[in-house]
Amino acid sequence: MSKVEVLIVEDEPEIAELIAFHLRREGFATRHVTSGRKALDAARENPPSVLVLDLMLPDLDGLEVCRRLKQREETRAIPIIMVTAKGEETDIVAGLELGGDDYITKPFSPRVLVARVRNVLRRHDGDAPIASEGRLVLADGALTIDTNRHVVLCHGQPIELTLTEFSLLHHLAQRPGFVRTRDQIIAAVHGRSTVLSSRTVDVHITALRRKLGDLSALVETVRGVGYRFAEAMPALDE
Ligand code: CA
Repeated sequence: MSKVEVLIVEDEPEIAELIAFHLRREGFATRHVTSGRKALDAARENPPSVLVLDLMLPDLDGLEVCRRLKQREETRAIPIIMVTAKGEETDIVAGLELGGDDYITKPFSPRVLVARVRNVLRRHDGDAPIASEGRLVLADGALTIDTNRHVVLCHGQPIELTLTEFSLLHHLAQRPGFVRTRDQIIAAVHGRSTVLSSRTVDVHITALRRKLGDLSALVETVRGVGYRFAEAMPALDE
């Protein structure tokens, strides 16, 4: 079986080397390019399994690279993990809305990066948290979302959600660990329930959390970016 290959797009050699070192140690093959244009060429000629994309690049910036890759049929499916500096929330939001799959913020731990790469690959392979048809079983079984019957069970007990709350929860829970921006949430929920604005998303999330009780921490706020369903069950009392 051929190795999973990660294309690293990074103009700072030390950071590129660090990323490559940790990925190779975990069994990934890596390629490295130093500019946005080279990234486009490399991805078109030989599409990698995952792209780790620095957003601040000398020629074409990372957002433009992301946009162009997602526009083209042959490169659209490549998962993209954006690498940003702290305080670039607007770039993160823009990148996610252009189709970027995930992001990490510099300085980052190599372990987190490797975990994110595995995560996008797992999702790419269609390994969504679906236990059986129409049922999402999450948080080690503490939360069940029954999409056919529109029922949510917390610790086996049904809770009463509005249609909007249900749609929000269902949308986030389909991709644990992945941030959704408010606009992405609005687009996904639109038409299924009421008309939403950024501010009303926050209001509905607050109401949803209250109803989730001790599972409320599963719906995480990502400051300046949006919301995320927790990847693993957050630590409750031991
Ligand atoms: Ca850079």
